Amino acid sequence: MSEKIWANSGDSHLVEPEDIWQTSMPSRLADRMPRSVKDPDGQWETIYVDGQQWRRRMPRPGTIGVPVGFDPDTQEHAPGANDPDLRLKDLDQEGVWGEVIYPSLGIWAHNIGDPHLLREGSRALNDWAIAFQNHSSRYVCAAAVPLLDIDDAVAEVQRTAGLGIHIAFFPTKEPFGRPPFQSAEWEPLWSAMEEASMVVGFHIGVEPHTPDKRTAVIHRGPGGALLNFGENTFGVQRCTMQMIASGVLDRHPNLKVLNSEGGATWGPLIADRLDEAYRAHGAAVQPRLSKLPSEYLYSQVYATFQHDRSAIPTHTAMGWRNVMWGSDYPHHEGTYPHTQKVLHELFDDIGPEASHRIRIGAFCDLFPHVPPIPGA
Ligand code: MN
Repeated sequence: MSEKIWANSGDSHLVEPEDIWQTSMPSRLADRMPRSVKDPDGQWETIYVDGQQWRRRMPRPGTIGVPVGFDPDTQEHAPGANDPDLRLKDLDQEGVWGEVIYPSLGIWAHNIGDPHLLREGSRALNDWAIAFQNHSSRYVCAAAVPLLDIDDAVAEVQRTAGLGIHIAFFPTKEPFGRPPFQSAEWEPLWSAMEEASMVVGFHIGVEPHTPDKRTAVIHRGPGGALLNFGENTFGVQRCTMQMIASGVLDRHPNLKVLNSEGGATWGPLIADRLDEAYRAHGAAVQPRLSKLPSEYLYSQVYATFQHDRSAIPTHTAMGWRNVMWGSDYPHHEGTYPHTQKVLHELFDDIGPEASHRIRIGAFCDLFPHVPPIPGA
């Protein structure tokens, strides 16, 4: 047996109980919140959100990346997905200590078009997440932010910060009808987040649908599945550029951005491309920045990966200190239940300093309140 290797995760999820809305909201509102209904044969699910619906093919055991034991009917292959006490047993077995925990069902809430419903739903989701987080100082649950109304967004950031939340969960595209993240309209939100020391957490694949009910599937036919998955990762790259180019990170030097599940290798590329543009097209650049674009990326932006071998040299050879590992527990793209194997394959052959930084240190930059890993 090889020695246990520990890591913090910058990308994990909880799975909300099916009755989360009915137990926390009046039923006239709860009925419009996201819910998933699986087909009897387990092949497909239908997502219902406020009068809209989408069909999704379910991942199947036996395909690459879907662990043995995964239950396609419940999507819950990990016992601790929605049980905060059982979850600690899973984490201890896997060698995962602290975790950034995003929602699962709550991801679909960004398709809601009614500001009142989104505000009430976000509160309900966050209250549940805060109760979950209160079970362990290892849990760092991400708050949902009602982005349809800037005053609601600021108020929910301030309310949840006061209740112990350290990161807010953002879609990688603005909700339909809202201005792009580089717009000045979002400025009060960035100010509130910096003031509250709350991290901006972008998670891949969370892109609100359009009102024509187009599904998240963009490509069909040959190559479709790989193309969709590949394009899924671009959102965090665009969001990071929006935060740098518009001067958000310049005006808010204490604001930190975490990009979850999109890999890390793209970071230095984005930094180089933005620097090139800043030099070559300086006359057209506004606002002017007080540093080169790359300097914001290297200091204020972080990114997580699960399996990517190329993420390691992004740190060791390209010098991006903010490369962070993440498990994506309990989702099927993640490393459960073979996290120890993944961590050994990734880190056994690299130096202790780089290994520590990617597994532990980068996470501690953002969440210094999480207690240290005993003995690591
Ligand atoms: Mn994830």
